[in-house]
Amino acid sequence: MNIVFACPECGARAVEMAIEEHDALSCHQCGSKRAIPEEGLLPNAADTPPRLTRCLVCPSTELFVRKNFPQRLGVGIVVVGLALSCVAWAYRELLLTFAILFGTALLDVVLFFLVPECLTCYRCGARYTGPGITDRFGGFNLETHEKYRQQAARQGHSAPASRS
Ligand SMILES: [Zn+2]
Ligand SMILES: [Zn+2]
Repeated sequence: MNIVFACPECGARAVEMAIEEHDALSCHQCGSKRAIPEEGLLPNAADTPPRLTRCLVCPSTELFVRKNFPQRLGVGIVVVGLALSCVAWAYRELLLTFAILFGTALLDVVLFFLVPECLTCYRCGARYTGPGITDRFGGFNLETHEKYRQQAARQGHSAPASRS
């Protein structure tokens, strides 16, 4: 099981591979270590990877399944496709214009199905990848997301501004 998370100490992006073999998550930027909570990884039957029960970076137990698809790549493909189709349009290549647009959309869809799923923490955004990792968890839930977003906003502004 691998994890990508933002270091709670310095905010740097940290990656730890095979976390089931470690007892702490470490940040290579600032060197801080964070013990992996014992109940966080439940041992499974032999030969199967342990199961994640909660986020290992923050105390949250709420995680959601999503595609491990870099959003920037998806947007980048669309932007390049649009630019190319504009060029084709300028040359009055109608067929080519639509071929490019269709191809771009198709590429995005194919990529989306090819990339594996990962588990993301609502609270801190840590991402977990690995075989069988998504078994216990459901997809994205807007209500849960909103709950954590408001919590984070409250912590960010300890003195709430009264607008009215
Ligand atoms: Zn750090
Ligand atoms: Zn978390």
